[in-house]
Amino acid sequence: MSPKVVFITGCSSGIGRALCEEFHQRGLRVIATARRLDSIADLQAKGIATHALDVQNTDQVSQVVDAVLKQEKSIDVLVNNAGYALIGPSIELSEAELLLQFKTNVFATLVLAQKIAPAMRERGRGLILNIGSISGIATTPFSGAYCASKAALHALSDALRMELSVFGIKVVTVQPGAIRTRFGESAKETVARVLKPASWYRSVEDAIISRAELSQVDATPAKEFAQKLVDSVMVEKPPPIIRIGKKSLILPLLKKLVPTNTLDGIFKKKFGLMQMKF
Ligand code: NAP
Repeated sequence: MSPKVVFITGCSSGIGRALCEEFHQRGLRVIATARRLDSIADLQAKGIATHALDVQNTDQVSQVVDAVLKQEKSIDVLVNNAGYALIGPSIELSEAELLLQFKTNVFATLVLAQKIAPAMRERGRGLILNIGSISGIATTPFSGAYCASKAALHALSDALRMELSVFGIKVVTVQPGAIRTRFGESAKETVARVLKPASWYRSVEDAIISRAELSQVDATPAKEFAQKLVDSVMVEKPPPIIRIGKKSLILPLLKKLVPTNTLDGIFKKKFGLMQMKF
């Protein structure tokens, strides 16, 4: 029997890259995609198939999925992993930045599912892993756009799970905690774009940057995350929601148990809002 085919987005670094290596080691046929092919050339050298794919480009998504289905005959597992955090004061985010955040983290995941699910339906089986975030559950200051995008992804993913189950397609909403990757670096790049000299929040710039870096504090290694996730999903009945990584259990618990005003106060203090000077 030919090995199962796994299609993963955003494989240049972090979780996507670690998942490529983990699935590959376990004998699955991995299709790694990334915006820049050179960023995944080393994966190709290990025998992993690679394709250039910017998930914001719907035409490119169609072309790549068609080419892979022609070549491999099936895609058994789709991992919607590509994503980034737009960090900055919500009131100062441009519409263009917001649209890009939602296009990458939310809309593109559905476009990929729409392109790939028909081939899964034909075979009466398939697995879709949507990489959400614990940030989609517990919102912190200066991450409104990112938290909103992941909350939206969770909702879409949960709806897809119910709707596709009747066709034998399983959908898992993955909510990682803090995982050591390039995520903090790319979040800091967005702060540099968003925070204008006249920002209302200039005086707490350091706190905003610390929010961008938050996921990298006391983080779980991406390899460990990938091993645990693959263990959890390569079973007959994977759980509907999977939380792995530092803080992935405590944050939802805090959100449930601590009154909103108290939690707001904790986060406002942590991210400089109590110390702001006008
Ligand atoms: P990462 O190392 O920065 O990896 C993000 C990946 O997404 C990179 O390969 C990046 O590619 C790719 N990407 C971004 N925009 C893309 C686009 N338009 N098209 C294709 N690829 C794109 O961070 P990571 O932590 O592994 O993030 C992976 C996923 O995990 C994200 O969805 C993130 O929200 C989620 N997550 C991470 C954490 C954490 O603590 N690290 C926690 C919860 C959830 P480039 O190299 O081209 O930018």
